Amino acid sequence: MIEKILIANRGEIALRVLRACKEMGIKTVAVHSTADANLKHVLLADESVCIGPAPSSESYLNVPAIIAAAEITDAEAIHPGYGFLSENADFAERVEESGFVFIGPKAETIRIMGDKVSAIKAMVAAGVPTVPGSGGPLGDNDDENKRMAKEIGYPIIIKASGGGGGRGMRVVHTEANLIKSIQLTKSEAGSFFGNPEVYMEKFLENPRHIEIQVLADGQGNAVHLGERDCSMQRRHQKVVEEAPAPGITDEQRNRIGTACVNACIEIGYRGAGTFEFLYENGEFYFIEMNTRLQVEHPVTEQVTGVDLVKEQIKIAMGEPLSLKQEDIEIRGHAIECRINAENPAKNFIPSPGTIDRLHLAGGLGVRWDSHIYTGYPVPPNYDSMIGKLICYGNDRKTAISKMDVALQELIIKGIETNIHMQREIMNDAGFCEGGQNIHYLEHRLEHLV
Ligand code: ADP
Repeated sequence: MIEKILIANRGEIALRVLRACKEMGIKTVAVHSTADANLKHVLLADESVCIGPAPSSESYLNVPAIIAAAEITDAEAIHPGYGFLSENADFAERVEESGFVFIGPKAETIRIMGDKVSAIKAMVAAGVPTVPGSGGPLGDNDDENKRMAKEIGYPIIIKASGGGGGRGMRVVHTEANLIKSIQLTKSEAGSFFGNPEVYMEKFLENPRHIEIQVLADGQGNAVHLGERDCSMQRRHQKVVEEAPAPGITDEQRNRIGTACVNACIEIGYRGAGTFEFLYENGEFYFIEMNTRLQVEHPVTEQVTGVDLVKEQIKIAMGEPLSLKQEDIEIRGHAIECRINAENPAKNFIPSPGTIDRLHLAGGLGVRWDSHIYTGYPVPPNYDSMIGKLICYGNDRKTAISKMDVALQELIIKGIETNIHMQREIMNDAGFCEGGQNIHYLEHRLEHLV
C-alpha cells in the first residue's frame, strides 16, 4: 500500500493527480516554487513544501530538493506528471535508490525509450512497425549513406538519436545535400544533446499523428486503450486531440494495439505509456514512445471509462492489472481543446497576468481540467497551457457541437487566450470532416486568426 504521494509537478496535472489520490484515500504532498505558492493543488494538498525559486531549473527540476521534500514529509511514492522530470531516467533511479516508489516505468526502460535508435531497435524486435530507415546510427562512409538514402527513397529525414522537443532533425530532398546535412545534424546533435549520433528515416510528407495508450503492470500483463488523433498541431505542439481517430477501423485498432501490447510485454514495461505513430496511406509508423502520462490522456478516459492516474497508482503499488483487453470498450467520441494563455493575433506570444473574471462551461459531457480560479496570477515562468476543455458525445459530430457551445460559455478575462481560435477550429469544415494531416492546422491558421 502507498499512503502518501508527493506530486512533483505543477498546474493542471498536479491537480489531476491530487484528485485521484484523494478519491483513493491517499495523502498528498505538493511541492512548489516561490511563484506557485497559491496554486490550487498546493492549497488542497495535505502538506506542501517550497522547493525553490520560480525558474524550473531551480525548483521543478531540482532533484535533491524534491527528494528532500519526500524525506521530510515521509511520502512513499513520487508522481512526476508530464514534462519536467517525468522522462528523466536519472531522476527515476534517484527516487528508487532513495527508497521511494517512482510512479512510472523502471529507469532502465525510460533510458532505452529516451534514445530514439535504441527505442526503434526495441520496437523492431517486438514487431511494432517503424518508419523505413537506417535502423541504427549512421557511420562515416559517405557512399554507404548515399546508397542507403537511395534505397529508402528521397525525401529522407536525418534525426538525432538523443533528440527531443522537435529539435535535431533535417529533411533532405536530394543526394546533393545528403552528406552536408548528415554532418550538420551530427554537430548540432552533439552540442544540443551531448550525443552526436544520428540516423536516417523516410520522410513522410502528409502523415497524421495517431498514438496508442497502453497500461502495463511489469508482471506480464498489458492492455491498450485505443488511439488518439493529435494531428491538429502548431509548431509540433498539439492543439486539439481526440479519441477515437476518425476513420480508423476496429481491425486497424486491434492490429496496432496488439503490436503495442506485445511490445510492452517484451520490454517489461510498467505503468501508463504512449506509442506515437505517424499514419499515412493506411499504415502506422512508430516514431517514439512516451513513458509517462500525457496531456491528452482525458480523451482516452472519456471513451473508455478508465481512470488512467488511478491505474498508474495501482500499478505502482504492485497490483497486477485488473483490466483485461476484452473489458476495454471504446464508446462515443471525445475531443480536448488545450486552453493557453497566449495571443493568437500576435504570433501566439504568451500572455501571463491575473485572471480577473472566470466563467466555466458545463453540462452533460463537459469536463474542465484546470487549476485556474478568479484572482489566480498566471506566472510568466512556465508553459502557457492553463486548462483543458474536454467534451464527450455519442459521436464525433455531437462532441464537436458540445465543444463549440462549451467554448462559447468559457470566459477567461485579464489575460489573452486561444479560446476564440479553438472555436474557429471547431467550425472549420476540414476539421469537421476529420482525418486531416499534421500540416493542416498551420495552413489554416493563416486564415483563422
Ligand atoms: P521529438 O522527440 O523531437 O518530438 P519525434 O520523433 O516525435 O521527435 O518527431 C517530431 C515530429 O517531427 C513528428 O511529429 C513529425 O511531425 C516530424 N517527423 C519526425 N519523423 C518524421 C518522419 N520520418 N517523416 C515525417 N515527419 C517526421
